[in-house]
Amino acid sequence: MAENIKNSLKKVSVSTREQRLGSVTGYHGDLQDLVSKSRCGTLKNRERCFSQSSLCLSNCAIGQLLGIRDVAVIYHAPSGCCATAAGINVLLRQLAVRIGTVNDTIMVGSDIDEKDAVFGALGYVRDIVKKVDERYKPKAIFVASSCVAGVIGEDIDSLTDELTEELAKPVIPLHCEGFKSRIWASGFDVSDHAIVKRIVKPPKEKRPVINFKNFFESERKQITEIFGELGVKPQFLYLNSTVEELEHLSESLATVCICGTLGTYLGNALEEMYGVPYIRTINPMGIRGFEAWLREIGKVIGKEKEADAFLRREREKYLPEINELKKELKGLKAVIGMGPGYTYEVARVLQELDMEVVWAAAWHYDGRYDNDAVPPALDFLQKNSPNNIGLSVADQQNYEVMNILNRFKPDLYFSRHPGTTVWAIKQGISAVFVADEYMIFGYKGTLSFAKTILDTVRNRSFEKNLAARVKLPYTDWWYKQDDKSMML
Ligand code: SF4
Repeated sequence: MAENIKNSLKKVSVSTREQRLGSVTGYHGDLQDLVSKSRCGTLKNRERCFSQSSLCLSNCAIGQLLGIRDVAVIYHAPSGCCATAAGINVLLRQLAVRIGTVNDTIMVGSDIDEKDAVFGALGYVRDIVKKVDERYKPKAIFVASSCVAGVIGEDIDSLTDELTEELAKPVIPLHCEGFKSRIWASGFDVSDHAIVKRIVKPPKEKRPVINFKNFFESERKQITEIFGELGVKPQFLYLNSTVEELEHLSESLATVCICGTLGTYLGNALEEMYGVPYIRTINPMGIRGFEAWLREIGKVIGKEKEADAFLRREREKYLPEINELKKELKGLKAVIGMGPGYTYEVARVLQELDMEVVWAAAWHYDGRYDNDAVPPALDFLQKNSPNNIGLSVADQQNYEVMNILNRFKPDLYFSRHPGTTVWAIKQGISAVFVADEYMIFGYKGTLSFAKTILDTVRNRSFEKNLAARVKLPYTDWWYKQDDKSMML
């Protein structure tokens, strides 16, 4: 059973996905087996004797919060843990400019050194928080913990309690020690936990707003227009939101998300705590996903007719061309390697386009979401897939993906992470980098996605030329290993 979120919110930190959702990073099998084990609770993680790569959950936790426009994050960590901060900072500032606003949020690292690791450095953190408050006047300040701060037991909870009183504004602890979980998506829950526990206020009135949890809001304009047809406005989270907007999340009519992995904790927390319905359909990718999603939104907010009318218009506009392109896509074989919030959604869309998914690898797998149910996209696939797809779970272990690609030699590889995309191309396999979270959103996105796939397979000279000139580090011995031998 997933932990009740009301209980979870009483704690200073949220449990990891391994503890809360039975999530795993090692699995090898197939669709029917994975769903059946998830339903009966017998899914077990398979260990590796070698791990090539991974990501720290603090990156997800802090990255989410830095998108808010008027806060500060103090990362109590060695400078190396802050390595990605500069890139995130530039990206988020540019994304704010794109919608004509300014992101004033800042991040400061406490730069723990060897001496601090022995004697502690909370005194410095206190000074940094006060200096940041004086200089930047943020509306809220997050104090984030790292592996070192966690190991030496730095008491950021007491410190933030004291500073909240002293500064008369929320100073919030963020327990994102990287060693806690192998699943970097646990970091999304850490940031949601802090927001719901310390920023969101109880509702005073209902407002015609739908909370929309996403990453980079590239379809902000289109979604605002679609929601406008239903008489509501989207509140995008957390990018470009403000602390004041977050305080009102409990007053919205519903919560939706672009990715179930990203949205599960916030959506379920707002529903359990404040009765804000969380839309749990398959996600708005492809035709079936978009229709199921928008119809459910319409039903929940009492705008079914408006949703249906919009869908009718869009079908007429886009479906004939999509159907025409399907003739050329039919039978193309695909391997997918993505985060679990996209793997099974993209598999469904490829099947809608008459392609064959021969293998799907997810970077982790949540056996159930916070409502205790199997993730909807996987549930849908299990009931509707024409074939029992081979599945694996590997936290971006690229050497395993290379083995899978070599074995299946698909027409295409789909990934949402550039690192694995480029390695497929070096192997001579055409690859589509599903970088933008909205790349397959709705009818319009599905049409453009189908065109991108065709562009990719019509001219394969780049992959052929690159593969002919690159010497990969993988030996024949490795390619002969079947993937069962990859895990203990
Ligand atoms: S918090 Fe731990 S896992 Fe994360 S970057 Fe720092 S040392 Fe690495």
